[in-house]
Amino acid sequence: MRYEDLPEWSNAAANWAAEYHRTLRERPVRPELNPGVIAAQINPSPPEESESVETVFNDFVRIIPPGMTHWQHPRFFAYFPSNASPASMLAEQLANALSAQCMLWQTSPAATELETMMIDWLRQALGLPAGLRGVIQDTASTATLSAVLTMRERALDWRGAAEGLANAGVLRIYASAQAHSSIDKAVRLAGIGQENLVKIATDDSWAMCPEHLQTAIDADRRAGLIPAGVIGVIGGTSIGASDRLHEILAIAQRENLYSHVDAAWAGSAMICPELRRLWAGIELADSLVFNPHKWLGVNFDCSVQFLRNPAEQIRTMSIRPDYLQTLETSEITNYSEWTMQLGRRFRALKLWFLFRIYGLRDLRRRIRNHIEWAQDAAHQISQIPGFEIVTPPMFSLFTFRFAPPGRDADELTQLLLERINADGRTYLTQTRHDGRFVIRMSIGQFESTEQDVMDAVGVVKELAATIC
Ligand SMILES: *Cc1c(COP(=O)(O)O)cnc(C)c1O
Repeated sequence: MRYEDLPEWSNAAANWAAEYHRTLRERPVRPELNPGVIAAQINPSPPEESESVETVFNDFVRIIPPGMTHWQHPRFFAYFPSNASPASMLAEQLANALSAQCMLWQTSPAATELETMMIDWLRQALGLPAGLRGVIQDTASTATLSAVLTMRERALDWRGAAEGLANAGVLRIYASAQAHSSIDKAVRLAGIGQENLVKIATDDSWAMCPEHLQTAIDADRRAGLIPAGVIGVIGGTSIGASDRLHEILAIAQRENLYSHVDAAWAGSAMICPELRRLWAGIELADSLVFNPHKWLGVNFDCSVQFLRNPAEQIRTMSIRPDYLQTLETSEITNYSEWTMQLGRRFRALKLWFLFRIYGLRDLRRRIRNHIEWAQDAAHQISQIPGFEIVTPPMFSLFTFRFAPPGRDADELTQLLLERINADGRTYLTQTRHDGRFVIRMSIGQFESTEQDVMDAVGVVKELAATIC
């Protein structure tokens, strides 16, 4: 394949993509297939000789989409969304054409400067204070690990990376019991150890108890341990729980602990000013992550980490061997000094296209619709005999279970979920809440309509009738 052939096949791919999206509603959200059936259709070894683009393209159409879970399906209400607006897909094509490696300003001047500008657009769109800077990461897990490493280095007076942790003492990190597993992973990988992640109990509103946080920090200090950081959550993955940031971040600040907030999903909703009361106090956070690749409409991957004082993370991450020295002045930004990876993709272009092609007004309208439809769906489900809403809509996520009197609700709810997902018209996932098996319904697909949401509720009702 030569570049002369690219227009023909790019057009074929774009046409395929448009048709795929136009007919997505007719496909099951999740394929019914056994593990191994796709691998069995792929040659076990790479070809010696060239094959035509047409053959490869046709094999893609034949083999791959039928073996995919369709994340862009308008009735995908599992996990959290991973929205891909056509505007961001278009930008991705152009970024691919350039295929720049954006590690230093010098290796990618326009990408670096656009990244700085897009971080600031996002800062304004979310109503965050002036002066906050940031960097685009691949995922929230990476941003959280970066923040935890900074917690570690700051608490050790920046000696951990150089000297190792053998004589470092025991560091402690505090997070809510609703915190995402990426926080456990970060604490493990940072060498702090799972046992030193203190999960603080939550109150009736599923927010971390500030008094318990304070008590835990005091007890650790008395025991000679080293408190290093506090991690708050806004819109937790299980049920959408949020901490009262103004209370817990004030404690972190008073205790001189580095703080990080995980708003991976719900951060996008903060483009709506009326929701910002839910993260009041956010301006106190040292680090904040949210994923435009979840709810906002930027195709995966694009995760934004805001930093109040980037110098602390740069001091943790930066290493500058001779071959990366550049001669520019200190006015330029080399984003690879802010991140674990040296090599960086050009992700800012997707944000630029998204913001300009939709505008904030339209992006807000979508999020407000999702929140309203989640409330309607929860209400509808609460009206079906035997059903109860376990946690009310938080942003656009709620959980429910099927608990007709005298029956084992865990077993029935699990059976119902299996039927729903085997049926294919919609896709929901589960969590455990207060020891109970519950079904999550998370609304946020870029192209969902109110009808799609109500159709999914209809499927729940119809299939519940088949098991009772
Ligand atoms: C999705 C999610 C994560 C993990 O995000 P990745 O970008 O996949 O690493 C972490 N925390 C919360 C609250 C999430 O919703």
